[in-house]
Amino acid sequence: MIDTHTHIYEKAYDEDRDLVVRSAVEAGVGVMLLPSTNEEDVEDVWAVTEKYKGVCMPMYGLHPTEIGDNPDLQLDKILDFAMRHEPYVGIGEIGLDLHWDKSNIEVQKHIFERQIDYAWEHDKPVSIHCREAVSVLMDMFEKRGGRIPGGSLHCYDGSVEQAKVIVRKYPQLGFGFGGSCTYKNSKVSEVAANIPLTHILTETDAPYLTPVPHRGTRNEPKYVPLVVSRLAAAIGVSEGDLGAVTEANARRIFGLKE
Ligand SMILES: [Zn+2]
Repeated sequence: MIDTHTHIYEKAYDEDRDLVVRSAVEAGVGVMLLPSTNEEDVEDVWAVTEKYKGVCMPMYGLHPTEIGDNPDLQLDKILDFAMRHEPYVGIGEIGLDLHWDKSNIEVQKHIFERQIDYAWEHDKPVSIHCREAVSVLMDMFEKRGGRIPGGSLHCYDGSVEQAKVIVRKYPQLGFGFGGSCTYKNSKVSEVAANIPLTHILTETDAPYLTPVPHRGTRNEPKYVPLVVSRLAAAIGVSEGDLGAVTEANARRIFGLKE
C-alpha cells in the first residue's frame, strides 16, 4: 500500500519519526509521498525524505492556504529549491481552498495555474488540494485545453457526478481517499464505489483526518489499511485486492518504480 499524501515531516513527529515510519512499513505501507506546503517546509520535506530514502519521497509546492503577501516570490523560491533537489516525485501540495478564504480566489488561481504549468512543462505529476472548489477547478481545467498533468485530487470533496466527468475527461488523475471515508455520514466512499478501481488512491493527510477508531489523535501512515478496509467494503472487493490495485495506481500515476 502507498500513502500518497502525508505530512510526517511536521514537528508533530519530531519525537518518534523513526517509529512512525517503521510502523507504517510493518503495516504494509511501503511508500509515503510527502508534499510541502510553503517555501520554508520544503527543507523539512527534503531532510526527512533523504533520511528515509526509497520509503519517503518528496513533492514540492505552495498550498493555497499558505499564500502570503508575495506569493510569486514564495513560489519562485519553492520551484528553485525543487530544481536544485532532483529527483523529486512531483509538484504538491497545490490547489484551491474556498473553505478558509474566498477573498483571494484570483491569487489562488494564478498560483495554482503557475504550478500546473510547471508540472506540465517538466512532466511531473501533481498533488491537488481542492476544498469546496471542484467546480472552479473544473472550469480552470476546461480552459487549459488538455494541458493537465497526471496526479491526485487529494481528499476529494466533490460530487459523484463531478468525479465521473473528471474520470472521463482527465483519466491521468486519481482520487485520494483518506480517513474521512471512515466518518459517519461521509459520502466519500460513495464516490469510490462509483469510479473505476484504476482511479482510486489511498492517503492519510497525516497528522490530520485520522480514521475511525483513532479519531481525535494524531494521524499516521500506518492507518492506510483502515482506509483500504472501509473502501473495500463500500466497493465490494477484498481488502487484499484493493490494497494491490491502489498501490499499482499510485505507482502508475506518480511514476514510482517497483
Ligand atoms: Zn495535505
